[in-house]
Amino acid sequence: MIDYDDALQKVLDTVIPLHPTMVSLNEAHGLILAFPANAHWDMPCYDNSAMDGYALSSFPEDSRIRLPIKGTSFAGHPYVGELLPGQAIRITTGAVLPPGAKTVIPLEEATDEDGFVYLIVKPKTGQHVRYRGEECHANDVLIEPGTLLRAGEIALLASVGVEQVNVYPRPRVAIISTGDELVDIGQIPGPGQAINSNLHFLRHRLNECGCTPICIGVGADEPDDLGQLIDQALEADVIISTGGVSVGEKDLVQNVLDKRDFHKIFWKVAIKPGNPVLFGMLKDKPYFGLPGNPAATAATFELFTKPALKRLAGLINPLSEKRKAVLANEIIAGGNRQTFLWCKLEWQKNGYNVSVLQHQGSGQNRCLTGINALLPVPTGTKKLVKGEPVEVFLL
Ligand code: AMP
Ligand code: MG
Repeated sequence: MIDYDDALQKVLDTVIPLHPTMVSLNEAHGLILAFPANAHWDMPCYDNSAMDGYALSSFPEDSRIRLPIKGTSFAGHPYVGELLPGQAIRITTGAVLPPGAKTVIPLEEATDEDGFVYLIVKPKTGQHVRYRGEECHANDVLIEPGTLLRAGEIALLASVGVEQVNVYPRPRVAIISTGDELVDIGQIPGPGQAINSNLHFLRHRLNECGCTPICIGVGADEPDDLGQLIDQALEADVIISTGGVSVGEKDLVQNVLDKRDFHKIFWKVAIKPGNPVLFGMLKDKPYFGLPGNPAATAATFELFTKPALKRLAGLINPLSEKRKAVLANEIIAGGNRQTFLWCKLEWQKNGYNVSVLQHQGSGQNRCLTGINALLPVPTGTKKLVKGEPVEVFLL
């Protein structure tokens, strides 16, 4: 049976980024830039003041001297005219420095009386001046491809006149639930029934990962019904189904896919939970058949689907971030498959501590609460002791 690292590599070798598209700057938040973004103009676009105070042209050697105030340059309302030697104007932060102005005296370093400014501190040329182009010049590349556009990047591009950017689109991800037993919120499960909790996990987790979930529906354990939903799901960029991929009589996902030109890349990985996970290409769409047990759905989503989604979304490194930590409690785990345990990573004085819930049934949702990392336990390990150094994947 294939192991986790090899299976993940197959996923990453298969999935390619979506086609870049132009979007307005504000729609680009949370997306990855596909082409370099350049400044449209110098920034600042004009010399301006960094302080509220007075702009002077030439200033006297004797700082006690007084200069006549010829007017004011406000932010948004520049002073009209040139500043001649021996003249001053009042100026506010961000206001244009008129031609001839050489320095700015902060309000706190001068007094103002009867139309004259008296200097308290001797100024230096160019002090408190923000020169044109000191942040960037027109056509400078400000953001490189592969960068996640967040508030800071959007604000910078807005300031230099960028209205549209070329980004990788937000992946649209179809979710198909399978199982005759599934009912939804608002229904009381009858004998043998269960709430479709995986749908809610995936929908919200996809949103958290910057994707657009498309809830296709619940397929009965019956080939025609399931097939219809799978055909419908091809409208998305990626398809996830939950349940129906193991070896039971009612596990029909593979049969249905095989009738549809499915190219299987792997089925079954030596991991726990999530052993029967299925991955392949349905036409040109990556297809993840996640096992139905809630903790197995969640683990295989994190381990396989999330890196694939990051690659589709244009991230250069689609792997989860890792942290070195120290185990806060002993755990009995492992066996003949690599085991992944849900855990909580916390910073404590000198480093990260990680605490792990002992009982993590794959049929449970409870272990998915209050956690922020997954701890891989190598095959063959029987026990990890308190204080042991470990490495976890951040979720
Ligand atoms: P399966 O993988 O279809 O054999 O399902 C394994 C277990 O997961 C069964 O107990 C199912 O009831 C449960 N299960 C399957 N799909 C879901 C779902 N969408 N939400 C919650 N539990 C599920
Ligand atoms: Mg089932």
